[in-house]
Order: sequence, then structure tokens, then C-alpha cells
Amino acid sequence: MSVLKATPSSIKTVNPATNKIEKQFEVMSDEQIETLLANADRAFSQWKHTPFTQRAALLHKVAAIMREQKQTLGRLCTIEMGKRLAEGIGEVELCANIFDYYADHGTAFLADKPLDTPIGSAFLTYEPIGVLLSVQPWNFPFYQITRSAAPNIMAGNTMVLKHASNVPQCAAIMEDIFAQAGAPKGVYTNLFVPGSKVSNLIGDKRIKGVSLTGSETAGSSFAAEAGKYVKKSTLELGGSDAFVVLADADLDLAVNTAAMGRLWNAGQVCVSPKRIIVLADVADAFISKARALYAQIKVGDPLDPSTQLAPLSSEKAVQEVVEQVEIAVREGATLVYGGHRLDRAGAYMEPTILTNIKPGTAAYSQEIFGPVLCIFAVKDEAQAIELANDTEFGLGGSVFGTDTAKAVAVARQIDAGMVYINHTTGIAPELPFGGTKNSGYGREQSPSGIHEFVNEKLIRITTPDAPY
Ligand code: NAP
Repeated sequence: MSVLKATPSSIKTVNPATNKIEKQFEVMSDEQIETLLANADRAFSQWKHTPFTQRAALLHKVAAIMREQKQTLGRLCTIEMGKRLAEGIGEVELCANIFDYYADHGTAFLADKPLDTPIGSAFLTYEPIGVLLSVQPWNFPFYQITRSAAPNIMAGNTMVLKHASNVPQCAAIMEDIFAQAGAPKGVYTNLFVPGSKVSNLIGDKRIKGVSLTGSETAGSSFAAEAGKYVKKSTLELGGSDAFVVLADADLDLAVNTAAMGRLWNAGQVCVSPKRIIVLADVADAFISKARALYAQIKVGDPLDPSTQLAPLSSEKAVQEVVEQVEIAVREGATLVYGGHRLDRAGAYMEPTILTNIKPGTAAYSQEIFGPVLCIFAVKDEAQAIELANDTEFGLGGSVFGTDTAKAVAVARQIDAGMVYINHTTGIAPELPFGGTKNSGYGREQSPSGIHEFVNEKLIRITTPDAPY
């Protein structure tokens, strides 16, 4: 592999509730990385032949340890990226369910698949491809790792993880959990390298597939590098989910779902309802109800169970979101509520509502990764669909209405990877997750997630005299 130079460490825990550095980690040296990649490669040669039952047993054990340690793990999320403790614990429970899901169903998902052919017989068989590089963001420190690791390790691949630099303790403890669960050395490995050094890893011959969840900027350079080396890649990038409220929707339910949904994880969710689209005749009522709701929100310590809105993930994150709101207002948007950071230590900001956002302005097209509810008024359903699709992103989306058939008809017209009826875009092990347009390509979770990094190999049984 190319040379990775040790640099001063950007890999550290800075508690966003206080903005204090809690722990720093050394960037790994070239020699350390070389050893770890060699281990991962060697592990693959064994792991690919390990029976499914043993792979499943490992994943079940990982799930069990995560459940046992959910308080500790949830707290680590809170300390490293500011998530409310209850959300962190919920995230860990979801991860355990995903590990169990692939342990329970992975064998069936990867069973040989007979093909209908008039001559002889043929079937598809699914073979692991080798060491995978998984690059993940900080917003769901354990879930992001899990949805990449669970299917791929069940499929017989091995994985090296490069996690976001601000969640190193979550990254390190996950490797410990795999070790405690009995994973052979090299099956799952944490790498402490900065994002700027990832291209060196992509070029390494032992890495056979690469996936990244993160921003469009990182995704684009990542995929370009993968293309250079002809390596399969998947990308899960940003989103600007539309939340379309139809004329027959229960308005109170719609306001509550959209406004509270936007505060989940302090708005730092790729599938957060980022653009609320309502009909003009109910827009004022919608806005005033949302305003009343946000005026009651308790912003505060993420470890306090009564807190409803926790800090953002970092000082940089809060500064960026506040600046995006300021630019939106300068460009003509109306600030209905909030928009400011709190006058206290930590990366706290008020829940915020923007309206009158015009096409051509930054807030219209950019993803806002924070607790900012953007409400758009439209004259009719056709305009709602047009606006929902007037974005470079295509991750998730929601349609709210009491006539389900109508809501589904609208959902079919939204260019996104996932559209939920009467719910914000959600997450479950058995449901695929992923986007279209600039939100990336590939799917995680569900049966689809385990087929991304396997060789779908054809085996055909025939005779020399067959025409083909
Ligand atoms: P980011 O800067 O792109 O970072 C994500 C990961 O990529 C981190 O591990 C980062 O490492 C690494 N990285 C940064 N630059 C890189 C490069 N040039 N090449 C390779 N790796 C690189 O993302 P973020 O802004 O922190 O995260 C938020 C974004 O992720 C949002 O846009 C959000 O919508 C998106 N997201 C998408 C999904 C999804 O499923 N679609 C889920 C969650 C988040 P360092 O930390 O060391 O820089």
C-alpha cells in the first residue's frame, strides 16, 4: 500500500455538551496499518470458509453484548457526539436487532438461487469478495458501523472500519465487542486514520470493496478513487427529505410528527424531515402550531432525561448551522422561531423554524444538518410533488394523509430511495436503506444489504453439444 504518514491526531473525543477534550488517540502509523490489513486479509482466507452457523453465532454474540452494555455504549454516543442518552440507548438496541436479523436470515439470503433455463441447469451462488473498507460518519456512531458490518461479515467478508474522527471511543469499543464475542483476529478491525488518508487505503490491493456514508464531497472523491482502482463502491450520502402534507391530513398529527421528527438527533439525521411542504390554505395554521411546539422545547444536557433537544455534534457543527440560518434570512427567508445558539458552554442551539425560502437561495438547495424546520407553502398537490423533487438529493421522504391510496400515489411520484406514509423516514433491519440522485447508490439492511459485496456467480451445468 501507499505510505500513510502519521500526523498530529485529529482523532479525539470533544464533548459537545461542554466543548472540552476528553480523550485523544494516536493516528496509526504506516506499520500498524500494514499489520492490520495483512491480518484482515489473512482472516478472510479462513472466514470465507467458516460455516454460516458459526458466522451467525458470532453476530448473535455481538448483539447480546451490545444489549448487555447498552447503557455504557449509549453514554459513549452522548459524550462523543452529544446525542440524548435515551436516543443512544435506542440506537444500541437497534444495532443488536440488526446483528440478530442477519444472523437469523443471512444463510437464506445467500442460499444458491436456481435459474430457469431451457438447456441444462444453472444457478447463482453468492461468494464473499475479501476485505472491505467501511468509512462511516459520527451521527449514529454504532448504527452506522452495524449496518455495514452485520451483513458483510455474515456474508464471509472481513472489514476494516475508518470511523469519523470525533467518535474514536465508539470506534474502539466496537472492536472490543467483536473480540469479546470471539471474532477471529482480523475479521473486524478499527483503523485510526484521518479522512484525508482514506484514498491510500482504497488503492491497497487487499481492499476489495469500499463503502462510505457521509457528505457528498467525501462521497464523490471516495467513489472517484474507487473507480480508479475498479473497486465496487456504495455511497450513502446526504438528504433533504420532503415531508408532504396532503389536504386530508390530520394537521395536528402532521405538525407534531414533522416538528418533533426534525429534532431527533438534534436534526443531524440524513433522513430527517428537512423540507415540510404544506398547502397554502393551512400553512399559517401549520406554522403557528409548529412555533407553539418549539417554544416549549427544553434544550439542554443530553444526559438529563427531560431534555428534548441536545447539543449539536461539535462547535463547528453549531457554527455552521447558525450561519446557514443567518444566510437564509439574508437571502429573504423568514425566521419564525429560534435561529441562535444558546448563551452557555457547549454546541447548543435553539429549535428553529424558517419559512418563505425562495428557489435559488442556499437554504432552498443545501442540506441543513441541525434542528431547523423549513416550511414551504404550495398551491396544490402537483406543486407539492414538483417542489419535493426540486432537489439534488433523493434519500427519504414522507407523505401525510388519511387516504392511504392517494398518499401512495403521491409517494410513487417522489424521486427518493424510501418514502414513508404517515411517518418520518424510519429505520428497521428488514427494510432497505439508501438513496438515489446525489444521495448515493447501493442499499444497506434488508436482504438487499447482504448482496452488495458478494460475487453473484453463475454456475451452469450443460454439455459440449449445447448451442450455448
Ligand atoms: P463527512 O465529513 O463526509 O465524514 C464522513 C466520514 O468520511 C468520516 O469518517 C470522515 O472522516 C470521512 N471522510 C471525510 N472526508 C473524506 C474523504 N475526502 N475521503 C474519504 N473519507 C472522508 O460527513 P459529515 O459531514 O461528518 O457527516 C454528515 C453527512 O453524512 C451528512 O451529509 C449526512 O446527511 C450524511 N449521512 C448520510 C447517511 C445515509 O445513510 N445516507 C447517514 C448518516 C449521515 P473524518 O471524520 O476523519 O473527517
